Amino acid sequence: MNENELFQAALGLLPPWLVSRCTFDESAGRLDIHLDFPRGGVFPCPVCAAPCKAYDTDPLTWRHLNFFQHQAFLHARTPRVECARCGIHRVAVPWARPDSGFTLLFEAMVLMLAKSMPVLAVARFVNEHDTLVWRIVTHYVDAARAKADHSSVTQVGLDETAARRGQDYVSLFVDLEQRKVLFATPGKDAATVAAFAADLQAHGGDPEAVTEVSADKLVNDAVDKVRRLERLDHPELAGSRYVWLKNPENLTAKQGEKFDTLDVVHSHLKTARAYQIRLAFQDLFNQPAENAKAFLDKWYFWATHCRIPAIIDAAKSIRRHQDGILRWFTSGINNGILEGINSLVQAAKAKARGYRSERNLVTIIYLIAGKLDLACQPT
Ligand SMILES: [Zn+2]
Repeated sequence: MNENELFQAALGLLPPWLVSRCTFDESAGRLDIHLDFPRGGVFPCPVCAAPCKAYDTDPLTWRHLNFFQHQAFLHARTPRVECARCGIHRVAVPWARPDSGFTLLFEAMVLMLAKSMPVLAVARFVNEHDTLVWRIVTHYVDAARAKADHSSVTQVGLDETAARRGQDYVSLFVDLEQRKVLFATPGKDAATVAAFAADLQAHGGDPEAVTEVSADKLVNDAVDKVRRLERLDHPELAGSRYVWLKNPENLTAKQGEKFDTLDVVHSHLKTARAYQIRLAFQDLFNQPAENAKAFLDKWYFWATHCRIPAIIDAAKSIRRHQDGILRWFTSGINNGILEGINSLVQAAKAKARGYRSERNLVTIIYLIAGKLDLACQPT
């Protein structure tokens, strides 16, 4: 076996690909492996898989796993094929995904490292810029999330974690049965719940089935409905949407001014009454377990006697989901799960140190606490 055959076998290359030559530069500390295919080599069309001859080629380079302590690179003139049916396309090479400058094995190693050490440390370890490491991690996390199936999710807990400087927040929606983060997003207001509901639906889940979180959303939506109707006769309600959907402590300065101008606390507007009923509902989740049922009964009585149809509808709907909502309080298991997730998230934050953007933090949270199926295997 000569060195070309040795590397060909070690790379697991299949025809028509072969190793044509290798160069090792000891002083530069790098191994370069050149791949090629024989004249007339045939490749499957990347669209329809019909066998096609090469039409032209582009010289491409990929960084591969180190060769002992030396960096290793693959080079190949990569063909485009002209398929009679599909036109001209670049063929897929089996050792890398399209448009990546790294091989699949290199990327798999980066992902494995990123699970257990900070991305900046991974970048230093593999001697690449950290933005390239982030790009790899983001690609695989996004791809795994895109095909995640949330159709069996029924119990969701909501938690928040402070991001940079403790001022920005990331909201976490946790599957309490599978004990994993389903959805993470910057912010902690009503809009994050709506974003979660949309994301859950996009992954085959049913927001209606998710009682704790959707109950909140149900009441929020009812308040918004009341405001939209009442605004027709009360122009002072214009531009106040988020005043009613957020909690007082989360209002921006401008929303806070609106809150004061509307004199929300003393207002006789229906929207203000609906809002008070919403705040009271949220207080349910601060009750000790033994009070929860009585609290919910009292709230239900108030809500169904407020003479605001949208709120009465929401209250009746919550009554139908009552068992699921009260399950939230049983045995304190839920809080334990959230605490477990929270310690994973703290670890994720440490690993995302210098994470450049909240999106990167969210990516690492998914990587560590999302139990994703990261399909990063050479085909
Ligand atoms: Zn084709």
